[in-house]
Amino acid sequence: MSDVRVRFAPSPTGTLHIGSARTALYNFLFARHHQGVMVLRVEDTDLKRSRREHEVSIIRDLHWLGLRADEGPDVDGGYGPYRQSERTALYEDGVQRLLETGWAYRCFCTQERLDALKREQLARGEMPKYDRLCLNQSLETVRARLRAGEEATVRFKVPAGDVSFDDLIHGPITFSADVIGDFILRRTDGGFAYNYAVVVDDAGMKITHVVRGEDHITNTARQLMLYRALDEPAPAYAHHSLILGPDGGKLSKRHGATSIGEFRDMGYLAGAVVNYLALLSWHPGGEREKFTLEELVAEFDMSRVSKSPAVFDLDKLNWLNGLYIREMGSAELSEQVRPYLHEEGIALAEGQRDIVSAAIQSNLVVLEDAPRYARVFVEELSLPASVHLEVLHEEGVAGVLALLREALAGGGDEYPPVEEAKAILKQVADACKDKGIKGKAIYKPLRVALTGLDQGPELFYLVSGLGRSRILERLDAALTYLDERGSA
Ligand code: GLU
Repeated sequence: MSDVRVRFAPSPTGTLHIGSARTALYNFLFARHHQGVMVLRVEDTDLKRSRREHEVSIIRDLHWLGLRADEGPDVDGGYGPYRQSERTALYEDGVQRLLETGWAYRCFCTQERLDALKREQLARGEMPKYDRLCLNQSLETVRARLRAGEEATVRFKVPAGDVSFDDLIHGPITFSADVIGDFILRRTDGGFAYNYAVVVDDAGMKITHVVRGEDHITNTARQLMLYRALDEPAPAYAHHSLILGPDGGKLSKRHGATSIGEFRDMGYLAGAVVNYLALLSWHPGGEREKFTLEELVAEFDMSRVSKSPAVFDLDKLNWLNGLYIREMGSAELSEQVRPYLHEEGIALAEGQRDIVSAAIQSNLVVLEDAPRYARVFVEELSLPASVHLEVLHEEGVAGVLALLREALAGGGDEYPPVEEAKAILKQVADACKDKGIKGKAIYKPLRVALTGLDQGPELFYLVSGLGRSRILERLDAALTYLDERGSA
């Protein structure tokens, strides 16, 4: 173990968004690459919008992606509590320290005064900023006002001078403190400001690297000032770009699915999602696009993460997902597609499952596509309703159907293994050749007789996965049809 400690700090106000999932992933990759620790910290200070069920679903989604934190509300690592709502005593301690050391002061200004001040400053064309009216009150005055029941916030005394840091992704960044007013640490309602709580937490949890979205860059100046005031070493920062929709706007609902849960429900695979998100603004070099989580960990290099915006490319995610699906074993794929088939009322027989999975595997982009392709294996067929009936009118078709009938009627597994199905079809083809029956009378007519359709899975999958008895019934129906047509 190294001393690298990172944290993923979601606010439990909704489900896990794919942008946040990428933040979690970069934290995870960085931590694992350096044999460090990833902490999960739940930033639930917005009591109105935070919900425990969101925390539970975020953790579940992280686990699904394979991004388990080493410490967090569900795994104690000695640096807890891991929910901000349970850390108020620590925030209070810090505020007392800052008051004692003169880095903070009480402010009794009312909202009305602050609003008026802001209006005046804006009217003068100035940047609105607290004017420090309450900065130099004597201790006695402060005590007297508090005793008298006046409400006060605690403000941070922003030090003069620039604040600089060397972002691991963006390089050197400098902020001028002139534009930063004395900000509030503790509100009159006792709540603590985000910028302050984050510093108390990151310092207390010994976080060495803060990896987060670049929407937090401007917060970093305030946070660095607080480290100085609290006499704590500041972590290194890596602010990654945000994910944009194809139209260049911030990725949102109007672009389609945005939460990890939605992608999971559609049948994207965790490995493909992780692979895709990792490569959104980073690539280890070379042509390769497919990496397991372990490989990503081994290759990850923060200094190669691009600072350009990452545009969400659904086609690439789909391509990767299809690749992952095609690499699955058919037993595993059977398990994965089962709930999707079930939802559409498609119940496969035990012996049918793996055959059907193998048959549809190459068609699937997402698991949700499975019912569309699997339906043919369970659907009832009324041959006369088929729009492809004329395919059966080819010379010699009745003979072909009879050959397959004969090959299957001998008995065997209801769902003959694929190899056996191939052998049966070969036997039919050989016999046709001997009799001089042309290909035109063989493959398409067999397909129409078995499914009523002129395209679909490979014939050997149909012979294997439809079921011997069902096939015999369908061949009989087709032969009867041809017979009646012939005698008509
Ligand atoms: N809770 C913050 C968010 O969800 C994260 C803050 C941070 O990473 O510093 O945006």
